[in-house]
This record gives sequence, C-alpha cells and structure tokens, in this order.
Amino acid sequence: FGRPWIFIRGVPSMEFLPPEGPLEVAFAGRSNVGKSSLINALVGQKGLARTSNTPGRTQELNYFVPDGYSGGAGDLPPMALVDMPGYGYAQAPKEHVDAWTKLVFDYLRGRATLKRVYVLIDSRHGIKKNDDEVLSLLDKAAVSYQIVLTKTDKIKAPGVVKLIAETQEKIKKRPAAFPVVLSTSSEKGDGLDQLRGAISEAIGR
Ligand code: GDP
Repeated sequence: FGRPWIFIRGVPSMEFLPPEGPLEVAFAGRSNVGKSSLINALVGQKGLARTSNTPGRTQELNYFVPDGYSGGAGDLPPMALVDMPGYGYAQAPKEHVDAWTKLVFDYLRGRATLKRVYVLIDSRHGIKKNDDEVLSLLDKAAVSYQIVLTKTDKIKAPGVVKLIAETQEKIKKRPAAFPVVLSTSSEKGDGLDQLRGAISEAIGR
C-alpha cells in the first residue's frame, strides 16, 4: 500500500473492464456504509474514492491501482482495488437494482483475477436483508468474500465483540464466506492493519 494510488477507470459494463492482469480485491456495501472512507483510509489518501455517491448516479466499478505503471506488457501493478457501486438505496427503482445486479454478477462470474470481495456492514445495523441478498449472489458466483464491520467507533467495544460473534454465526453455512469477520473504524484507524493484512493474504503476497 506504499505508493500513491490513482483512479484508472470507471466500468459501467463488462466490455470496459481493464485487461486482466493484476490480482484484485473489491469492496461492496450498502450506500453510506462507509466504503469510500474505508478505501481512502486503507491507502491513506483522503480524496481517492469519492464519498457519498448520490442515488441514481451512474453505476460503475471504480478501478484503483498504485501509481507508476506504464500499463505496458510486463509492467503490471501488483494489485488493483475495485470500488463496487453501493446498493440498498431506499427509493431505488427496479431497473436500477436490476442493472446493479447484472453488472455485479457479470463481474463476479467473469473475472478470474478477482481474489476476494470485502462486504462492508455498518456496525450499528448488522446484516440487513439486502446485504443477505448480496451474500447469496456471492455464494452463487462462488467468489470468496469476507465481512468487514465499519464505523466501530459508533458503538461500545463489547457491542463490537458481540456483533462479530453474531455475524460469524450468521455466515457459518455460507459456502463462499471467509469465516473471520473483521472490524474497522476509518475515523479512528482501528482494524486497518488487519484489513491490509487480509488483503495481502487474499492476493497471495
Ligand atoms: P459510502 O457511501 O459507503 O461510500 O460511505 P462514505 O464513506 O461516504 O461514508 C458515509 C458517512 O459515514 C459519511 O458521513 C462518513 O463521514 C461516515 N463514516 C464513514 N466511515 C466512518 C467511521 O469509521 N466512523 C464514523 N463515525 N463515521 C464514518
């Protein structure tokens, strides 16, 4: 995570994906879960992922790579981070939800270099119905995923411990779920090293 990271492209559909090369991990979560804040905190750059996506905005997979690569053959970045469009807007029209599901499912099914998806869950809310649906989609696509609790500074420490245990219990029977649930606070910096470690392990570095 040492170098500066840069945004390379927004991908509205499969034909716009960058050529497969670097191994990648992706981040998913309900809108407002703290996804942009977490990506920015991970790489230590405040403005990298844009915070607060407005509902109805074009849905794209946003690709980030460490800076300094030519993009030429043989000069591949070691990894890419993919910010998936948020889900679960209160008044999202059906076409919007369908477009999200198509883009995400196509991506999950078709991307050999995708090593893991981090599914972000707000510590105050736990796994909601639409999160559950996304976990089912990931199981169906057979893509490895791990739950990351966000905004743990908003609840008391024993509450975090309890929520981790409850969440681990909930995902126990899910085939593609990584059994360990991580917890983070972008605000306080808690859990970021553990998440960086998990990512490095997921991409085998
Ligand atoms: P996104 O829609 O998932 O990208 O969420 P954002 O990163 O834009 O965050 C949504 C809101 O939650 C913003 O007001 C953030 O300031 C706030 N937020 C994000 N992470 C944290 C955190 O770790 N702690 C606290 N207290 N607030 C957070």
